[in-house]
Amino acid sequence: MPRLRRLILVSFLAASVVGTAFAAAPAAPDPTYAAIRGAKLDGRSLPVHNLVLERDAFRFQLDSGAFYFLTPVEGRTFGAVFLGQGSYRLTPATRSERQHLALVSGGGEDFETLADSFESLVLLFGDDTAAELQLHAPVETGKLDPQAVQALAKALEWQRKDFKTNFHLRVLRDLVNTPHLTSGAFLALVKGQKVPPALAAVDPDGAEAMGFGGLGGEDTLFLVADPARGGFWYVCDRQGEVTRGKALPAKRLTDALDYHVETEIARDTDVKGTATVRFKVLVPGLRFVPLFLLPELRISEASYALETAGAEPVWKPLPFIQEAEKEDADAAVVFPEPLAKGATALLRISYAGDEVLEDGGDKNYYVAARASWYPNLGISSDMAQFELVYRVPAGNEVISVGRKLDERTEGETVITTWKTDAPAQVAGFNYGRFKKLEQVDATSGLTIQVFTNPGTPDVIRELKGFFRTEGALDDDGVGYVDTGGDGPLGTVNTARLAEAAMADALNSARLFATWFGPLPQKHVAVTQQSDASFGQSWPTLIFMPYISFLDGTQRQRLGMGPETKDFVDNVGYHEFAHQWWGHLVGAATYRDQWLEEGFSEFSAALAVQHTQGWPAYEKFWRDARRQILDKYPGNDRPHWQAGPITLGFRLDTQRTPTAGQPIIYSKGGYVLHMLRLLMREPAAPDPDARFIALMKDYATTYAGKLATTADFQKVVERHMVPALNATGDAKMDWFFQEWVYGTELPRYAADLEVEKADGDQWRIFGQVKQEGVGQEFRAVVPLQVEFGKNEIATIGLIPLVGEASRPVDVKVKLPKKPKKALVNAHGEVLARD
Ligand SMILES: [Zn+2]
Repeated sequence: MPRLRRLILVSFLAASVVGTAFAAAPAAPDPTYAAIRGAKLDGRSLPVHNLVLERDAFRFQLDSGAFYFLTPVEGRTFGAVFLGQGSYRLTPATRSERQHLALVSGGGEDFETLADSFESLVLLFGDDTAAELQLHAPVETGKLDPQAVQALAKALEWQRKDFKTNFHLRVLRDLVNTPHLTSGAFLALVKGQKVPPALAAVDPDGAEAMGFGGLGGEDTLFLVADPARGGFWYVCDRQGEVTRGKALPAKRLTDALDYHVETEIARDTDVKGTATVRFKVLVPGLRFVPLFLLPELRISEASYALETAGAEPVWKPLPFIQEAEKEDADAAVVFPEPLAKGATALLRISYAGDEVLEDGGDKNYYVAARASWYPNLGISSDMAQFELVYRVPAGNEVISVGRKLDERTEGETVITTWKTDAPAQVAGFNYGRFKKLEQVDATSGLTIQVFTNPGTPDVIRELKGFFRTEGALDDDGVGYVDTGGDGPLGTVNTARLAEAAMADALNSARLFATWFGPLPQKHVAVTQQSDASFGQSWPTLIFMPYISFLDGTQRQRLGMGPETKDFVDNVGYHEFAHQWWGHLVGAATYRDQWLEEGFSEFSAALAVQHTQGWPAYEKFWRDARRQILDKYPGNDRPHWQAGPITLGFRLDTQRTPTAGQPIIYSKGGYVLHMLRLLMREPAAPDPDARFIALMKDYATTYAGKLATTADFQKVVERHMVPALNATGDAKMDWFFQEWVYGTELPRYAADLEVEKADGDQWRIFGQVKQEGVGQEFRAVVPLQVEFGKNEIATIGLIPLVGEASRPVDVKVKLPKKPKKALVNAHGEVLARD
């Protein structure tokens, strides 16, 4: 479930959703926004000669030319256009960001700085840029260069058509929320000689404040708009924050308390709704609040009310902003009066749009991954309670996040009401025609429901179409041959398939509750969806791809190869695990996404171990290791060299298009697997007791919250064991720096001999080498003896630092003569071949 990619990079991907225009009432404009959006050059200018503007990692060198100012709004100059000869430099503050910038910009091994020259530059700012420019030269009036007018129009066109992000909202936020401060954001739009149109920005409220959900509190970013090379080339804390090792989180304006979302689906994929959000004001004098909402959903009306104890809310009209659907459509509202910090307010938005839901075929419709199908103050960043009311055509069933409170039919419409039992990050649903199977499980305390489609033939038709046209999962070249009639699939017994899905869900529920602790909710619904290629998890609700309901023979007949089998076997466990990793404990930003995806992969491996045995668990990690090490077609390097786990969705670049999933999911899971092994006590009654205590502690500590990678590290440090204490200071920095924040992978070579010693003792001696890593790289490598096939015992751990060769000479008691001695036999340490 790569959620951030969908949220953020959607602008740079080919438009996949075809919407139709919805005739909404014209927006009631906020006058400040209208003035910013429509601002023109006002004739003020100043000459420039050798001016340098420094903004954190950016340095703008303006050799000669002039600045032209935009008309002030609310008495403040917030924008200017530069024409002339200039250049910029971006010097990354961290090694990891330097490596990423080198990768995306095509820099070599010795890359230090990205540099480019330009002939125009457009600035938008809520900081003191205007004052800084006026110190450089006196302002002249009455000069208007038509080229400056053109440059401004061009920048607005990039904003609307290429970035599809409304940067004017960021200026508005500073101007109305902190009208007396000049400590706001700095945004520069520039197209250089080499680099496509780019946004260079420093935002004291964090990059997320510029409208990029999930980016978190890092202040400095460089975003390039280009269909092939585009993306977040640089996202980082400020240099000072990096040096101090302390950074501020994103500044939050609001805290959503609860959502009441009324949704009407008159037909298929069209949505009409009214959402009421109750929220707490977190900053003084709040007027501007950004909303997340799919651009296809057009706002028709907005209103607000302040909550006062014992009084009915008094609703007042609220100006809202939402530009054209296929342009910079980020939504926002502007309160006509400043709201006091600590106040509780209600916000009500009405909206509608066509073709908003995904059509899964077979008359089943669902919400795409984490889509903002209702206006919200931040998905995956702010947990809240939900009450959800759905009106759908009679004959359909809605399955939603939450617990069903009520169901009734009015004429041709069926109305259901749902409520969450615990705070949730996001709400979702699907609807269609379903058959239900239900089972109460005492071990996990959960009621599991499995919903399958009764209309099997339709689904098979869909599948046939899928594999004929896309063949996405047909990786062994065996094409599907349509034999007519029921085809090679034969008759699909949906009842039996539902039982298989139920068994997977029950296994997951019991196992994960034992390892990670109980869930706050009382039920989980698993629903089939016709989309063949992916699963999705919502709080209390899991969408499963239809192919996971097919048996092995049927999948084989559809031409699906072994990779499909692994996907199908594990997708149910992975999605179920998201009830813990993603919904019980969320990840704070895109850099922490592995805390959801890697943890769910690890959980799937646990389920594989418990249902198929330890060799299957080891195979799971051998496959994961291959994905991490391999170089796939279209990539110019193996996945592990694309960047660290904490680069999140940014791992997918033009030069490393498939790196994200192997690193976030597989390497993220592998990190947890390595921790488990280091903490394991094979001789103890429960060998994993220490690791289980760690995971339960993490789940309990961060239940209903969002965790960072640093948070998880702290929990690990609370469960320190000798094998983890490699640096002797009870810290896990060494481990996280290497595996989570770093990209190095070691290589091991052993030259060991075994000889008989006294009694039943055996002497193992020789050399163990660690190679291909820097001088600081530490690992604790298992020393093993092999007695026969699948008969390997670990007899000790060898600590290694840097490129090192270490002599081994030990005597151990063994039950019989070993065939040989070796190290890292099962990839206990993630290593290269
Ligand atoms: Zn996932």
